Amino acid sequence: MAPSDRRDTQPLRPSTKVLTEGYDPTLSVGSARPAVFRSSTYVFSSPEAAERAFDVASGRAKVAKGESPDLIYSRFNHPNAEMLEDQIVYLEKGSASALAFNSGMAAIVTSFFTFLHPGQSVVYTIPIYGGTQHFIQDCLSKWGVSGIPVLSGRVDLLGRAIRSAKKLGAVMLETPANPTLIMTDIQQICDAVAALKIPKGGTRPLVMVDNTMLGPSFQHPLTLGADLVVYSGTKYLSGFSDMLAGIVLAKDPDLIRRIRPTRGLFGTILQPDECWMLGGRLSTVRLRMDKASINAQQIAERLAGHPKIKRVHYPTLFTDPEQKRIYAAQCDYPGGMFSLELKGGKVAAFNFLRNLQIGRNAVSLGGVETLACHPKTTTHSGFTDKEFADAGVTDGLVRISVGIEHWRDLLADFEQALESA
Ligand SMILES: *Cc1c(COP(=O)(O)O)cnc(C)c1O
Repeated sequence: MAPSDRRDTQPLRPSTKVLTEGYDPTLSVGSARPAVFRSSTYVFSSPEAAERAFDVASGRAKVAKGESPDLIYSRFNHPNAEMLEDQIVYLEKGSASALAFNSGMAAIVTSFFTFLHPGQSVVYTIPIYGGTQHFIQDCLSKWGVSGIPVLSGRVDLLGRAIRSAKKLGAVMLETPANPTLIMTDIQQICDAVAALKIPKGGTRPLVMVDNTMLGPSFQHPLTLGADLVVYSGTKYLSGFSDMLAGIVLAKDPDLIRRIRPTRGLFGTILQPDECWMLGGRLSTVRLRMDKASINAQQIAERLAGHPKIKRVHYPTLFTDPEQKRIYAAQCDYPGGMFSLELKGGKVAAFNFLRNLQIGRNAVSLGGVETLACHPKTTTHSGFTDKEFADAGVTDGLVRISVGIEHWRDLLADFEQALESA
């Protein structure tokens, strides 16, 4: 049965679709797993087909229904990217179209350069991923796009910034925020943008959500009104801390069509081998994230009363009523990340990291192995004192990305490391 026939008779669930759609074995000599097409260039079926392929790739013509234009050159497109993109839409609720990039930053930078132009502004939540902040503050600013940072979780301040921003081009949310897991209400922000009065000839600002921390399994921004979802595929999507990747998804395929030529120009497409690797990992994203979330919850809730710990930052331990409400409304599960605030400050945090036996002292997150880091001196070390205070990044804070080891082994490891803290 052709995939389209199957879809017509009965709606399949994402975990099935990610394994059954997007790949046609007859195009890879019957191979049960896709082949890797490493070619940099493609042989045209005719000069007319080449002409047509260039018309479509450049945007001068639209693909007709059922048409599949010849491939041209792998900086624009290649079969392994197409397969990955066709499959990943089934994991992101509400998405219709996707693009693969060679890192999360490549996905973010390429998207911003597609939609923003000089004179516009971007409202974004802080703390946000360091690379994103650096890009908006130090790079976009040189191109005449101004960044307006607003504390994450503060819907009142975000709403005000959205209403008062001059020529607002985009709103960039990262929720939960890293490393304190403060959540921002995606739907309220989308509603605030939807309520803006747009002058004649103007366009509505785009709402972009960096969904790396809880997506695609536990948080679904496109169903809440967001226009674009971006990922560092380096994290949970790939899941083994062995590759870099980025993904952008949208409900409106036209947004993806507009980003595609920028990706072709910048050369930020994910390479064939990496597309193949990431494609193979998609069917286990849910399994890995479920396990990491169950582990993290077991451990975080048990460490919450530990005498050496001042506070554990984790969604099921939220005390602020507004944060509890957002978590309940927006997230299916709490996820695999938590942060510990140690009473003994930096010395205690460093000793804790030094003495971990199972968990490893490394940045990054979302792998099957447990990683821990000290945000103040590593991932967030570029902050000013005010930014540290605003974001709650203290001397004693340790961020932990929980893997899929047995949680009792991890808990015992954290407890022995705490003895030295
Ligand atoms: C890692 C990360 C990024 C950047 O992704 P790269 O793949 O390292 O380029 C962006 N956002 C978040 C939330 C991340 O954790």
